[in-house]
Amino acid sequence: MHELPVVEEMINALDEESGAKHISRIKEIHLEIGELSSYESSSIQMYFDIMSEGHTCEGARLSFEVKKAMLKCTKCGSTFEHEKGFDCPVCGGDAVYVKGSGSGYTISRILV
Ligand SMILES: [Zn+2]
Repeated sequence: MHELPVVEEMINALDEESGAKHISRIKEIHLEIGELSSYESSSIQMYFDIMSEGHTCEGARLSFEVKKAMLKCTKCGSTFEHEKGFDCPVCGGDAVYVKGSGSGYTISRILV
């Protein structure tokens, strides 16, 4: 259910983009979904199918990619994807969560 405002916002952004770039039709949209967000790709697809009607993105294909949360080592400063633990793969130091990473969604690419 919480995907609804996301899809609404996404369609608005796509409308703006197509207006600015004189795009008449969007064929494909690549989305990055943060692993920490609770967005379901199937729900996004469902709302999108309903709400894109009459917009330039109507009937566009959605593809999803999971965006991992990132960690930053407090010792050597390297950043890496969160996978198993909080140990830095470079130096073994302790890493902290990079605020905002792996959450929300991004429109990474559109094909027209
Ligand atoms: Zn390190």
